[in-house]
Amino acid sequence: MKTPNYNAAGAKHEGRRLLVLDDDASVGETVCAIADRTGIQARWATSAQEFFAQLALWEPQYIIIDLVMPDIDGVEMLRRLALVNCEATVIVASGLGTRVLEAAGRVAAENGLKIAGVLHKPFTSRSLRQLLAAAVPGANHELHSQHPAAKPEITHGELEEALRHGRVVTYYQPKISCFDGSLTGFEALARWEDPEFGLISPDYFIPFAEASGQILPLTDYVVHTAVRWLADNFPVANISIAVNISARVLEDTGFSARLMDACLQYGIPPGRITLEITESSTVQNPVTALEVLTQFRIKGFQLSIDDFGTGYSSLSQLAGLPFSQMKIDKTFVLSARKSAESRKIATSIVRLAHALGLQVTGEGVEDEWSLRFLQDIGCDSAQGFLFAPALSPESAVAWVRTWRPQEIGCMFRGMYDF
Ligand code: C2E
Ligand code: MG
Ligand code: MG
Repeated sequence: MKTPNYNAAGAKHEGRRLLVLDDDASVGETVCAIADRTGIQARWATSAQEFFAQLALWEPQYIIIDLVMPDIDGVEMLRRLALVNCEATVIVASGLGTRVLEAAGRVAAENGLKIAGVLHKPFTSRSLRQLLAAAVPGANHELHSQHPAAKPEITHGELEEALRHGRVVTYYQPKISCFDGSLTGFEALARWEDPEFGLISPDYFIPFAEASGQILPLTDYVVHTAVRWLADNFPVANISIAVNISARVLEDTGFSARLMDACLQYGIPPGRITLEITESSTVQNPVTALEVLTQFRIKGFQLSIDDFGTGYSSLSQLAGLPFSQMKIDKTFVLSARKSAESRKIATSIVRLAHALGLQVTGEGVEDEWSLRFLQDIGCDSAQGFLFAPALSPESAVAWVRTWRPQEIGCMFRGMYDF
């Protein structure tokens, strides 16, 4: 073990510490020199045994692991790190191909390790510095990561009461044109405001509502509030509203009439309403889906395939169903910066959507890099914390008044105009 700045007493060091495992001493030395220049203290070990001894003694916040070691394979190393409840941020490095490296990165994440990214060997000093910088959580992400809380248990009666007393509320997240930065619409997202637990996540209560059948009154409520909100605040503007529709709702023969009634009641043309449907919803009963979706389109509603890339639909089904829009699942956008695979998938999704004549939205846009990436691959719209999280009805209206695309560090059309 080379320990140029070793503290013999084993006392805790101040500052940022990086521990490197690589059987090639010259790699360890180079990483330490680069890290040192960025103000990070670094040490390296050439065997797993040395590495774990130093991990316990020195408590580094960052770790770089070579996947191919003579005495232990990289996956086993990641498992052992998880077993010792390692809290350091992990970077996996290797000369193996991209797919292997990224799969190893996923192994690390799935074992509960904090993974900052993968380092392709041979690497440049710049790519290492970028990865180390990315290991420090971005302030923007922290600001908006206000995930509504989970709740220990839900009962049918509680959800019914929440719906009756208006504790299930509709929030609105803006959608922006990648082209000129203008607001194109909002997605309506359900929230449960519980007096005891605060905001409860839809990821928690929507599956329950789907299983209990309460998704029907819940969706009716979201549709009603969203269409009314649009009519009250943007009666004539060319702004659309998207509502999420579960498979169960598609099977309800009365839903389409109730949706049309809401449009008539509030004077909103169906063309301003988008129904977001997940891929898996359309495969449960492909014939019903085809009939129902075609009826919606005939009435003038827009149809968007949500979370594309994570469901189970076949491409022939996609081509056969009358969608007008597609949303790239946020996992691809969130990981695009670190994952060449995600970038390739996102790029292919945009090409596929355009080839089928669909408009594409990228969700999960948390930073300027992601927006620029989506602009580069020709994506039409973007949604994410970079612009705003889902907002309460009043905050969403206030947000529109203050939205200035030029304050985002990306170029939109019109910015060059004099
Ligand atoms: P979804 O339809 O894919 O909605 C997008 C989700 O991504 C929302 O989560 C949104 O808050 C989140 N999101 C948006 N931008 C970002 C970002 O930049 N970074 C990250 N990390 N996340 C971002 P939310 O509101 O928790 O909703 C989760 C899911 O619950 C929705 O996914 C949708 O499938 C479902 N859902 C929400 N409301 C309803 C509803 O009224 N009916 C039905 N059937 N499902 C709903
Ligand atoms: Mg959606
Ligand atoms: Mg989605």
